[in-house]
Amino acid sequence: MNLVKSPAAVRKMRTSGRLLAEVIHEVRQAVEAGVTTAELDALTESETRKRGAVPAFKGYQVGRDVFPASLCASKNDQVVHGIPDDEALSEGDLISLDFGLSFDGYYADSAFSVYLGKPPPRVQELLDVTEAALYTAVSCAKSGARVGDLGNRIQTKCEAAGFGVVRNFVGHGIGERLHEEPAVPNFGKRGTGLSLRSGMCLAIEPMVTMGSARTITLGDRWTVVTRDGSLAAHFEHTVLLTDDGPEILTTLD
Ligand code: MG
Ligand code: MG
Repeated sequence: MNLVKSPAAVRKMRTSGRLLAEVIHEVRQAVEAGVTTAELDALTESETRKRGAVPAFKGYQVGRDVFPASLCASKNDQVVHGIPDDEALSEGDLISLDFGLSFDGYYADSAFSVYLGKPPPRVQELLDVTEAALYTAVSCAKSGARVGDLGNRIQTKCEAAGFGVVRNFVGHGIGERLHEEPAVPNFGKRGTGLSLRSGMCLAIEPMVTMGSARTITLGDRWTVVTRDGSLAAHFEHTVLLTDDGPEILTTLD
């Protein structure tokens, strides 16, 4: 992995994170019943290019499969990597939006889930617990901690609430490339895995389900859904480990 060590690199990572947070802010405002995920994708791309940045997912290649959009839009039982389409969102949909960009050679990556309308209590709990698990993991992402500590925090919190933690998709290092070492699983044992240190930059991203954690990938070769059809939530931030502790880059705060 590339350690983000030089002050110039740190500045560029902060800029990428900030730009991404701005784009996500705009897109979040547009999420409502009646809008299509293709429209959200178009907005994501235009807000990104307006800022001189480049969408990171459009054209992203795994083997021979090329992701066709700037935004991953995963609805209801879709966990991640949903492809935007022309179907309008409606009240009662749970939508997860995941987005990455690069600016001046450095990447940022973030995701959030939102329910349209007033969520049933258990769905609200899924959202709250998944987001809280992200922030719990962020708070322990500092020099001296191990990768397994982060996963353990997420797994413990989510499973204690009776939710499933997806195993076959994980967080990752990020910097001069979108996906770098190390893998950052959302499960694990404390005191195991790579030792973290300042200068590392991680995309931490719990993917949590209301039922079984098992997933399948649809025939489009991208869209990941829960095998049992249960709802899923996904929250992600890009986090820089500094000498003063974790710094969330993908936020407007
Ligand atoms: Mg992401
Ligand atoms: Mg990511």
